[in-house]
Amino acid sequence: MRYRSTRGERGATFEQALSRGYAPDGGLYVPEELPKISLDVLRTWRKLDFPSLALELMKLFAGDELTEAELAEVVRGSYANFSHPEIVPVVPLQRRGAADAESQVFIAELFHGPTFCFKDLGQQLLVRLLAHFSKRRNQRRTFLVSTTGDTGPAAMRAVSDAACANLQIIVFFPDGQISELQRRQMTTVSGVGAKVVTFEGGGDDMDLPIKKLSSDAAFAERHGLCGINSYNLGRPLAQLCHFFWSYFRSLDQLQAEVGRCLDFCLPAGALGNTAAAFMARQMGLPIRQIVAGVNANDITHRTITKGEFHRSEHMEKTLSDAINIQVPYNMERVLFYLTGEDSSLVKSWMAEMDATGRLTLPAALLRRMQDAFGSARIDDDAMCACIRRSVEEYGYLLCPHSAVALAAHFATSELDDSARAARVVFATASPCKFEHSVTAALGRDAWKCYQEGPEFPAAARAVLAAQESLPTRFEAEESLAQTQTSWESQLRLLLET
Ligand SMILES: *Cc1c(COP(=O)(O)O)cnc(C)c1O
Repeated sequence: MRYRSTRGERGATFEQALSRGYAPDGGLYVPEELPKISLDVLRTWRKLDFPSLALELMKLFAGDELTEAELAEVVRGSYANFSHPEIVPVVPLQRRGAADAESQVFIAELFHGPTFCFKDLGQQLLVRLLAHFSKRRNQRRTFLVSTTGDTGPAAMRAVSDAACANLQIIVFFPDGQISELQRRQMTTVSGVGAKVVTFEGGGDDMDLPIKKLSSDAAFAERHGLCGINSYNLGRPLAQLCHFFWSYFRSLDQLQAEVGRCLDFCLPAGALGNTAAAFMARQMGLPIRQIVAGVNANDITHRTITKGEFHRSEHMEKTLSDAINIQVPYNMERVLFYLTGEDSSLVKSWMAEMDATGRLTLPAALLRRMQDAFGSARIDDDAMCACIRRSVEEYGYLLCPHSAVALAAHFATSELDDSARAARVVFATASPCKFEHSVTAALGRDAWKCYQEGPEFPAAARAVLAAQESLPTRFEAEESLAQTQTSWESQLRLLLET
């Protein structure tokens, strides 16, 4: 299998695509040909456990460059530190006290990894693949990771779990915009190969300086720079598995045959998961619709409902920070598939977007988008109301992002009850990471009760008690452009020392 950029360049190997992050032409990597999975193959995959299913999927993409034994080792290691035997349990959403309710809604709990969020699923596998390549070539690699809260801890943990001396990592987070537990998951790691930087600004303000450094080929080569945010193809590829898996586990509970169409509702930020969902759908997984829940940072919702992929003026602060985003980079992968893999069109569109911050989709493309995607904008009040509703009606405590997904399900299912398919709602993180938001929804006493109770992970308690070390801090300047130029040079300096 070879890989191409959404903007045109062809012929990259799997190793090159993963090692580069962005393609040299600024696009995002996608497979040259997305494999098609038949219903017969799906039927055999239905019998597999999670790691075996992940192995079958990764063989399709990496099978020319890693032996099955090598891939199996990577895959097994990736899920070794999950706390649930099924890796991703899929549970019916059932009303309190309902006897054997025939639920049509299932929660896929994607948060049983070592840092309590779904990012572990993509990050563990991607980092282990890169560790494998770096050992094979005896090359040093430095991961640059910007985080709105969950990516950073998952990446640091994946690097430390991979235990490969060739790897180091620098993570960047927006000051004051992540939770205490998330911050501590990064500032209490005492490995030599990890640096933590905090910056004054919005969640994706650090993306441009990182992209600039990574596209300085000589510099990137000298430092073995590698981005592992979800623009890196390894992330959506690794995340394909939980769509296939939750599809099968929901069918089991519906006692349905392979082929039945389901909807997926998920909280949408940079759209790594959304792009993976769409790729799985293109590969033949019977997904009717992908419903993207967003918060007040609603560019994805405006794109899906009106075709307006328009950057907003400001990043809004919200109680679901992990999906605070102004320009979700994986929209480029979605557009690539919606245009029928037309990279020259995508290239000109993205040039327009880069230059003006606005791209308005043609009506025919918008219709195609609306066939595959639904969306809902869930503001903080609606999100909090959903956390309360879920506890009261279902006895189920959600993290704020998972509540955005469930609220998006409620908001869209009431619209067209007739065409309704059974639905999988993604719970992307454990509530244990979000004291401030859960408290805003349920009050201090409810939080205390949860934190002191048996549901709260012991490993999270340990992080809250550990000693923090102070991160490096990048300050903002007069304008965003000046700030980003200054951050780029500070970043160069940091890497040279
Ligand atoms: C990152 C994240 C999201 C958004 O996922 P994308 O793939 O970036 O759209 C949703 N929920 C949580 C808890 C996250 O950490």
